[in-house]
Amino acid sequence: MGYASWAVTLAVVLVAVVSLKIFINVITINGLNNRFIKKMKPSRIYISSPHMGGFEQKYVQEAFDTNWIGPEGLNLNGFEHDLEDYLDQNSFVGALSSGTAAIHLGLILLGVKAGDEVICQSMTFSASANPILYQGAIPIFIDSEPETWNLCPLALEEAIVDRISKGKKPKAIIAVHLYGVPYKVDEIRIVADKYGIPILEDAAEALGSSYRGQKCGTFGDIGVLSFNGNKIITTSGGGAIVTHSAALKEKALFYATQSRDNAPHYQHSEIGYNYRMSNICAGIGRGQMEVLDDHVALRRAMHDFYVDLFQDIDTVTVFSVPNADYFANYWLSAIVLEPNSVKEIDRESLRLAFEDANIECRPLWKPMHLQPIFEKYPYYGGTVAETLFENGLCLPSGSNLSDEERLRISEVVKNYFK
Ligand SMILES: *Cc1c(COP(=O)(O)O)cnc(C)c1O
Repeated sequence: MGYASWAVTLAVVLVAVVSLKIFINVITINGLNNRFIKKMKPSRIYISSPHMGGFEQKYVQEAFDTNWIGPEGLNLNGFEHDLEDYLDQNSFVGALSSGTAAIHLGLILLGVKAGDEVICQSMTFSASANPILYQGAIPIFIDSEPETWNLCPLALEEAIVDRISKGKKPKAIIAVHLYGVPYKVDEIRIVADKYGIPILEDAAEALGSSYRGQKCGTFGDIGVLSFNGNKIITTSGGGAIVTHSAALKEKALFYATQSRDNAPHYQHSEIGYNYRMSNICAGIGRGQMEVLDDHVALRRAMHDFYVDLFQDIDTVTVFSVPNADYFANYWLSAIVLEPNSVKEIDRESLRLAFEDANIECRPLWKPMHLQPIFEKYPYYGGTVAETLFENGLCLPSGSNLSDEERLRISEVVKNYFK
């Protein structure tokens, strides 16, 4: 063979090897891709995620354009005004950095000091109770009643009578509207007034809920709202204190901005806090107020969806208001399950079935009297809250869930209970 044919053969072999290599690469990549696609989970469905209305950035832009970036400015005034209009009832609203800050300032305004006792609904988020400890006060936890899952008026009175007999009248009552379902407003007010104890109304989950036509947030001697990222409207993080006098609102804002006395220099006669909302966050809040009623309607539609989904499953109850006096925003839709060991039905295995489908669900709030940080404090009542915690589950409830996501949720439920 001459050099020419050697060269041709070599070239052919080279081309063959390179092609084979490319071929193998393509096969492998395709294989990996296929395996990857098969394994890729559908996107996560959250319990409650932020849902922007569309005009939030306009208000934020105004803050930038006018350089009101700090905790002062038109958005703050505007947001507070929007909330006062919405709540009505002669409300004076102060926008703060969080709902927790609002509860803390609420306790301070109600005169809670170190060593005082403060009554608190046990079944709630820890932020309802932590500020009691910030003040060096002592929490007294109370069971729920089964209708609204909130403060039980009977256990409340029992506790007050017992604490008074032990020598201390509680300084305040923290009542919560869990998941946006109003607490027994009339019954709790009667007990509170009978003993002359003010109510700090934790309406963090209940903006848009009402009782007999009156908005939640306005029933307490002081009310609290939250605009955390997971709440019915959000300012990315924030809260508000609701008072019934201009003077009390002013006092709240005085504490929230470092308790500066009226002097040209920085002068302080009281402990101050840095709890004011920023004008940027308030801009988000103004945009969110435009869609609050839509969000309430959409969350209520999610609740309807679950009522429908579970209507033929008699071991599941969807948490709903007791009667037409109550109007819930249904911030979160929740169910309680009757566990059945024969059919292997319980709260945790249902939660895991949802988790397998990449759907977030969460047990109800674990009662405070069962929490390591709080278990040493007094507790009054039975096992209503504890049983709810054992068998209850919060389901995806956002105002921004799609039909496709609802379908995925219903498939999990149908497979689990089939
Ligand atoms: C969210 C929440 C709070 C706290 O509000 P933040 O704005 O997150 O500080 C307080 N109480 C209850 C019941 C809540 O759900």
